[in-house]
Amino acid sequence: LSYKLDKAFQTLKGKGQITEINVATTAKEIRRALIDADVNYKVAKEVTDTIKEEALGKDVLTTVSPGQLLIKITNDELTKLMGGKQEDISLEGSPATILISGLQGSGKTTFSGKLANYLKKQGRTVLLVACDIYRPAAIDQLKVLGEQIGVEVYSEPENKNAEQIAENAIKYAKDNGKSTVIVDTAGRLAVDEQMMNEIEGLKKSLDPSETLFVVDSMTGQDAVNTAKVFNERLDFDGVVLTKLDGDTRGGAALSIRTVVDKPIKFISTGEKMDAIDKFFPERMAGRILGMGDVVSLVEKAQQTFDQDEAQRLNKKIRKNQFDFEDFLSQLQQIKKMGNLKDLMAMIPGMGKAIKNLDIDDDSFKPIEAIIFSMTPEERSNPDVINGSRRQRIATGSGTTVQEVNKLLKQFNEMKKMMKTMNKMSGNKRAMSAMN
Ligand code: GDP
Ligand code: MG
Repeated sequence: LSYKLDKAFQTLKGKGQITEINVATTAKEIRRALIDADVNYKVAKEVTDTIKEEALGKDVLTTVSPGQLLIKITNDELTKLMGGKQEDISLEGSPATILISGLQGSGKTTFSGKLANYLKKQGRTVLLVACDIYRPAAIDQLKVLGEQIGVEVYSEPENKNAEQIAENAIKYAKDNGKSTVIVDTAGRLAVDEQMMNEIEGLKKSLDPSETLFVVDSMTGQDAVNTAKVFNERLDFDGVVLTKLDGDTRGGAALSIRTVVDKPIKFISTGEKMDAIDKFFPERMAGRILGMGDVVSLVEKAQQTFDQDEAQRLNKKIRKNQFDFEDFLSQLQQIKKMGNLKDLMAMIPGMGKAIKNLDIDDDSFKPIEAIIFSMTPEERSNPDVINGSRRQRIATGSGTTVQEVNKLLKQFNEMKKMMKTMNKMSGNKRAMSAMN
């Protein structure tokens, strides 16, 4: 998919203007790519029609390429179609009750365990209820999960009445001070009347605070049809999209949301008990586009990074005149873009790498203080900073001579690197790598 979209946007690259012709071509390719990602045909067509309209109505800024603009418009439209913002499940009532519905094999039991684990970590006391009355193995499966995560499982192996089991479980939860009850139910391989009656009855008698519909994202178009049938009977509150760890078919998220108009609340990304995430429409849009969060990075950078300033800096780097004044200005540009860690986390692959790293905006503070304590002469010509000047700067900035030395050393290394980069690639490539 990512390849296809790349191609679609390629069509627009290098063209400084958005015209009806190149938008139509690109829109057609975007549509094909969306359909390939399991987005329902009708939905894909609606999306691309909107994108076409939006794109043609926009003036193209000189600094933004038309391709980038279309990426942004597409991304925004997908985000909006998936509800725009993240939505939580309702945990009202004591106990709060959560009913889990869906076809067999969709991942209900696994998700019930994950949700229990997730809520337990938030300090709730959870009771898992095994209401799959057809397969004794299903009770055992839930019990194994419960043991793993340290959550009690309620079951009545001899009882064949799901409503009764659920009712007894609620009573048990009340008597034992549980704040949350998660009811795992039976599913069939396909939608059938008996299953529908049973889950409908369960919902009526339980009156849960949240009814979730669990669906396997790998089932593509079928997922949408199943969601529709379940919604007509159950009027569920939210959707759980499972198995997003495999060959990603994020398109199901878009189709389901537009067809049943219920928010997706969680995604499931593996068999382990901690493979659960809240659903963020913007992230999923990025995933469907196959571009990670690069889009928002581009966007953020563009909002705040002063183009003229960037050019001025590039020129100085090329002439090897980069000094502390420029360094300071660059630091401030980066800071304007927002939290440094968040910014880095948006780069695909970086999220995990920096998770435990200790970078925050405060790490800039001593550096800034040191530069502020330099005289203009020292800033533009750091070579004059001798021992006594170092001592003065350290005292003035409330740092130590060691810290001043470290910064000077780093600065010199940076300059050396810039010099080699200039030599290596005849300016041009180095500059575009920095932009
Ligand atoms: P149920 O019949 O709806 O209760 O489905 P289960 O919870 O028993 O899951 C069916 C199969 O899918 C099991 O083998 C699970 O381990 C697996 N499974 C569930 N959720 C996920 C997921 O998010 N990712 C992957 N890879 N497998 C999952
Ligand atoms: Mg099950």
